[in-house]
Amino acid sequence: MLKMEHISKKFGENPVLQDIDFQTFPQDVVCIIGASGSGKSTLLRCINRLETPTSGEIEFHDTSIFSRRFNLNSYHAHVGMVFQSFNLFHNMTVLENCMVGTRKVLKKGKEEAHDLAIKYLTKVGMAPYINAKPAQLSGGQQQRVAIARALAMEPEVLLFDEPTSALDPQMVGEVLQVMRDLAKEGLTMIIVTHEMAFAKDVSTRVIFMDKGVIAEEGTPQQIFDQPQNPRTKEFLSRFI
Ligand code: ATP
Ligand code: MG
Repeated sequence: MLKMEHISKKFGENPVLQDIDFQTFPQDVVCIIGASGSGKSTLLRCINRLETPTSGEIEFHDTSIFSRRFNLNSYHAHVGMVFQSFNLFHNMTVLENCMVGTRKVLKKGKEEAHDLAIKYLTKVGMAPYINAKPAQLSGGQQQRVAIARALAMEPEVLLFDEPTSALDPQMVGEVLQVMRDLAKEGLTMIIVTHEMAFAKDVSTRVIFMDKGVIAEEGTPQQIFDQPQNPRTKEFLSRFI
């Protein structure tokens, strides 16, 4: 469904992504791992069109996401993103946060938007907090609301950029559990993470990025148990 071909991105003279090629298929759970600065976030941001690659092509269902007549609103309804820093609207309640996208982007009626919000807040265990403001919630709870907000759009693909790295350790588990459940249900996801046990467990495919290139790609067994590239080995040895 998503296809990247020869994606390169430079910031000034700094080549941050070089010749990235990969595809996702329905129900894929792709975990992207790699050192800080290797270009993981930039790649996700290109997929979400928050950045424009210097060269290369990204297609969603065989249509270039950079073509002029491409409908960005509709794309953002189909390809959601969850950020490290939650990015909730602080002046809105939990419920309002989970309705604003379906109302404004999908143009759903109030009742349907409400029902979708409740459905997905229930799924992430946050239905009891619908009237709370984000500031009243823990980091783990805020991130679960952010996931519910993304799910309420009923996306085809959900992108996650280090969804647990801003959390206190005791809250990481609750967010990973929600993501595990989504993986089990067959939601297509691309997840940048430093949680190696989680990546090994849930992913159908792992991509190891090193200095802007895909240095190695394979099944979790291939990458974690039999890495071929010395850079992959060196990177993973830091987590043992
Ligand atoms: P981390 O694990 O720390 O999140 P990352 O793999 O996500 O790292 P990126 O954030 O994609 O890495 O950054 C890759 C490189 O691109 C870094 O050298 C970074 O400084 C640079 N970079 C990212 N965004 C910009 C920007 N808007 N302008 C200039 N340089 C940028
Ligand atoms: Mg990053």
